[in-house]
Amino acid sequence: MPSLVNQSSNKRYLGQVFCNRNLNMQKISAIGFDMDYTLSEYIPESFETLAYEGAVQKLVTHLGYPPELLEIPYDHTKFVRGLVIDKPRGNIIKMDRHKYVKIAYHGSRKLTEVERKAVYDPNNTTWDSFTGSGYAVVDTLFSLPDAFLFSAIVDFKDSNPDRLSKSYEEIFKDVRTSVDLCHRDGVIKDKVALDPGKYIHKDEHLKETLDMWRESGRKMFLLTNSLYDFTKVVMNFVYGPAWQDVFDIIIVGACPMFGEASSYLEEGKTFQGGHWKHLHNLLGVSSGSRILYVGDHMYSDILRSKRQLGWRTMLVIPELEHQINVMLEQTGHFEKLEELRCIRDELDGWVNTLEQAAADIERKQGNDTPTEEDELEEAWAEQKRIRAMLREETKAYHKKFHPQWGQLFKTGYQNSRFALQVENYACLYSSRVSNFRHLSVEMNFRCMSDVMPHDRISENPVTRFLLRRGRDN
Ligand code: IMP
Ligand code: MG
Repeated sequence: MPSLVNQSSNKRYLGQVFCNRNLNMQKISAIGFDMDYTLSEYIPESFETLAYEGAVQKLVTHLGYPPELLEIPYDHTKFVRGLVIDKPRGNIIKMDRHKYVKIAYHGSRKLTEVERKAVYDPNNTTWDSFTGSGYAVVDTLFSLPDAFLFSAIVDFKDSNPDRLSKSYEEIFKDVRTSVDLCHRDGVIKDKVALDPGKYIHKDEHLKETLDMWRESGRKMFLLTNSLYDFTKVVMNFVYGPAWQDVFDIIIVGACPMFGEASSYLEEGKTFQGGHWKHLHNLLGVSSGSRILYVGDHMYSDILRSKRQLGWRTMLVIPELEHQINVMLEQTGHFEKLEELRCIRDELDGWVNTLEQAAADIERKQGNDTPTEEDELEEAWAEQKRIRAMLREETKAYHKKFHPQWGQLFKTGYQNSRFALQVENYACLYSSRVSNFRHLSVEMNFRCMSDVMPHDRISENPVTRFLLRRGRDN
């Protein structure tokens, strides 16, 4: 990752809570928190390596995978959230909000533009929508080891076809089973329990933030998929021994929470599993819109709580700090890109006019006029030059965010699939829970006005120039 220059001057942006949908905290009477990657930020180098190494071990020992896999070291920087795994093809892809695939890797080999378009043909209207069992979405940080392991084994299979006869899809299934098992059999959690400081980043402002909310009189609850023993380890570390006092209700092993009916185990204010109706009763809320739920997982924390329960949501996106830092470092580069895009559009217009004129003349006179032809040749050459320049500059801009996958919230210059989901489902988003400490507990969050392409007419330098000239005349 690039170094974080100017970090102190960027601080006010890094710590911001961003608003997609107006939210008045005065209307919120209960605040709930997911735990993993929300209240506890795991250190990718050490934490993800536990899942990765545990899973490789299982693949080799129990599922007959080649022992050479044990020698591949884990690289936590290689994959990012928002990607989609195309299981049958052995590919990992990044798409924009229209599901147009802009980057595709087969193992660690990047598909050329021709290859990519042949597989994910943007003009093929019968192309599926990347849902269904053939795809897996990398939408939680827990999935990064899956992506790395799948891609590494695809590479291995391609270079040693005689050593691994399973299909890519079967390989993915084995990878998923092995990583899943590591979450359940102690391979990850026992190690974290022995030395939490090695695996969890301690946010020194988390405790004061949670205390601040509790003191505001709101009901507080913890709702995590982790089981009680692990929850205790993590919360002890990130908050301190009195962690249970800050919550009115603690729900662990919460998976069945959204199901129609489920039993729960109760011990004081701590429950294992449960049902949301029961939770609403305990919290004394009549409507889901009185609850703000803070989580990191788009699907299980945000989308479902919003759609099914009507809860207001805040998404924690730890990657946001890096994205904002790099974006602020490159504002000059971004302006240059915008300018190049304007020039390209103007050139396209010029070329269209000339082509039209040349066609008209040819039709009328039955032959070409050399003057028009020269100008057209010149316009074509310039168009080609600017397009190539724009392509290279866009690539360079994205590379600063991530060498393979580029900017998290963009694909090319469109919003990425990940960005679309953040926009659609998260009322608020921020890089960490403790960013709330800067804000009033009664804050009325207001979103920025929406912008459509025609709203930006006046931002185009050529339009601005023409408008000025019009006024001067
Ligand atoms: P959260 O607190 O709701 O974010 O829950 C995350 C919990 O889910 C943690 O205990 C993880 O270990 C667990 N988890 C994450 N990925 C998997 C998986 O693939 N299989 C089983 N458990 C998982
Ligand atoms: Mg989580």
